Amino acid sequence: TPAEFEIPLDRRFAQELPELSIPWSAQDATAPRMIVLNEPLAHHLGLDPADLQSPDGVRLLVGNRVPRGATPVAQGYAGHQFGSYSPRLGDGRALLLGELTDSGGQLRDIHLKGSGRTPFARGGADGQAALGPMLREYVISEAMHALGIPTTRALAVLTTGDLVQRERPLPGAVLTRVAESHLRVGSFQYARAAGGTELVRRLADHAIARHAPEATNAENPYLALFASVVSAQAELMAQWMLVGFVHGVMNTDNMTISGESIDYGPCAFMDAFDPAAVYSSIDQNGRYAYRNQPAIAEWNLARFAETLLSLFDDDDDQAIALAQEALGGFRDEYSAAWSHGMKSKLGLPQDLDDEVSSPVINDVMTLLKEQSLDYTSFFRALNHATSGDVQPVREQALNLEALDAWLEGWRELSPDADQMARVNPVYIPRNHLVEEALDAATDGNFSPFHQLLEVVTDPYREREGYSRYASPPPASFGPYRTFCGT
Ligand code: AMP
Ligand code: MG
Ligand code: MG
Repeated sequence: TPAEFEIPLDRRFAQELPELSIPWSAQDATAPRMIVLNEPLAHHLGLDPADLQSPDGVRLLVGNRVPRGATPVAQGYAGHQFGSYSPRLGDGRALLLGELTDSGGQLRDIHLKGSGRTPFARGGADGQAALGPMLREYVISEAMHALGIPTTRALAVLTTGDLVQRERPLPGAVLTRVAESHLRVGSFQYARAAGGTELVRRLADHAIARHAPEATNAENPYLALFASVVSAQAELMAQWMLVGFVHGVMNTDNMTISGESIDYGPCAFMDAFDPAAVYSSIDQNGRYAYRNQPAIAEWNLARFAETLLSLFDDDDDQAIALAQEALGGFRDEYSAAWSHGMKSKLGLPQDLDDEVSSPVINDVMTLLKEQSLDYTSFFRALNHATSGDVQPVREQALNLEALDAWLEGWRELSPDADQMARVNPVYIPRNHLVEEALDAATDGNFSPFHQLLEVVTDPYREREGYSRYASPPPASFGPYRTFCGT
């Protein structure tokens, strides 16, 4: 018989920072079954998809076979949730299996979500995940990746063969997630409380090794780490805003040190442009509304800085001054990244004078807002307008006079259609299509999910016969509400 295949996992986090995790095992899945496997990602990780689909592979991907040498752990973290602090959150239903070096030499976490209760699970939390929300994370994270946005990835979703009790019994599932790491702002908040400056220093050293190796040589390595996270998050926020993404639950435990988007619970892509868009049913005050996301990221980064102050300088006042200066870079970097991206979306040259580009950009944002235009299809329709075919974009507008006036000014700048086609997606995971795909999957029909996955992972190439996937929702879909994914 052939030798059992192994995946060569490191246990760096578990060994270097034992105070920050608890060794733990996944629950037994009754009848694990592969629902979707990300073959390109498997190859990139140096794993053979056939191995992962074998009975041993399936058991490994739900956590029931621990790779030799691995130490699965539940990671501890704290976090500000909707602004109020919880000292102990942590992986209540997830495990870090270990780290793997991918074919590009990058160390990646292999993580399970939905693998059973851990000591971090609170109250009545059952440690389970339902199939729908795990497939949701799969399709949205893979769409984000295809859009060029840093994100955790989805390697597989498997059903466990067990039912989980929600409003009704639902198929249980495990998502195998891949990330540059699972370090969060909340990991540093937890470390500060659990072990003070010395533990935060070890965690920061671990973070520098994984995410900011250049910081090692800086005059003040911990300040350089902080500045690199500020920069990564400013870029990430610009990308979310440019694509119309609303994360929905930007608690400090859901903000990574790597700069990857993480935890696709109540998130949504905007259809009609609305700066105040909020989809999450629990976000009653709109704290995490679309337009607030950059400011919330900045607030979260201030919480991160607080955990690092004693590493910045022995003198408190000096440490605060250094932190403020580094955090001050956020707004400029965010604005620069957003303007760069918006120029690309409009086909404008990057070296165009701000005096010329700013009014065009401001006016198009006003147009989008006043006419509640469909954010994604508006920019894509503009492509046709570069060659004089204004019909597709005019079809979407309510006030043609305002649109025509704007189009005239914009076309005088000779926008580049090829550039626009490279950055304005045709296909995003539209809320109504996601819901339709997840409902069908829950009923055992996976073809809508696979169809949707296919188009959103190749988002810039227009396909014949897929106009439904490129269109706004029907009026009957109504206002969209999301729930914290369980
Ligand atoms: P999230 O909203 O996914 O960012 O999760 C917030 C916290 O709740 C984390 O500590 C999770 O591990 C925990 N959590 C969420 N759902 C469950 C569940 N079904 N069982 C146990 N813990 C959970
Ligand atoms: Mg990096
Ligand atoms: Mg979370």
